[in-house]
Amino acid sequence: MIEMQDVWKTYPNGTVALQGIDVRIKDGEFVYVVGPSGAGKSTFIKLMYREEKATKGQIVINDFHINRLKERQIPYLRRKIGVVFQDFKLLPKLTVYENVAFAMEVIEESRKKIKPRVMEVLELVRLKHKARSLPDQLSGGEQQRVAIARAIVNRPDLIIADEPTGNLDPETSMDIMQTLLEINRGGTTIVMATHNKEIVNSLRKRVIAIEAGRIVRDEQRGEYGYED
Ligand code: ADP
Ligand code: ADP
Repeated sequence: MIEMQDVWKTYPNGTVALQGIDVRIKDGEFVYVVGPSGAGKSTFIKLMYREEKATKGQIVINDFHINRLKERQIPYLRRKIGVVFQDFKLLPKLTVYENVAFAMEVIEESRKKIKPRVMEVLELVRLKHKARSLPDQLSGGEQQRVAIARAIVNRPDLIIADEPTGNLDPETSMDIMQTLLEINRGGTTIVMATHNKEIVNSLRKRVIAIEAGRIVRDEQRGEYGYED
């Protein structure tokens, strides 16, 4: 479902962030992306949801040639991909309910469908009782669970997570991982950039290591492999 062929990314200032990435990720896989800071992990992930555009090469996600998408087609890609960030990126003035509902409103789902679906995903992340709260009334782990609810509400085929546990303590991080693993068991592909050695080494999945813009390791049930 995700295929990159000889993908390169050079930023406008001349920084070469990725140099010749070749990778295939099948439907339903769970993949960790690891590597030192500045290696190109975020860039790799940003290319998948067209936050950044590759300078060269081919990227196919489902049947989208995403490097060839016109600006107006990007929303169609985005509704098939849910994104989770390290800093949650919730809208601070909207309630938990509204943050999740917003993701359905932007794709113009009918009002009738929105409420039951939002309550269903809030139940899945165990936050139905916090539907009326504002983000800053929640713990970090709860905020990340809201972000996950928002990411899955439109039933994407793929969840992309950039350091989703980066701001969370170890126990909360494990809780977030259980939520992501449960979503993956439902068939959703997950690609997760992480520096969390404990998680990668205890919840074994495919590991893709990137260093200086190249894939240097790609193993099923791999290890983290770095000391930090
Ligand atoms: P990682 O996520 O592994 O830390 P990044 O993908 O963020 O790595 O960065 C890879 C390289 O690209 C780094 O040298 C970084 O400084 C550079 N980079 C990232 N974003 C930009 C940008 N918007 N403009 C210029 N250089 C960037
Ligand atoms: P239940 O079926 O458990 O009674 P509800 O549908 O009443 O669930 O909603 C549970 C929570 O979600 C309540 O706090 C409710 O006010 C909130 N909620 C439901 N719909 C909306 C909405 N459209 N906008 C804001 N909050 C909502």
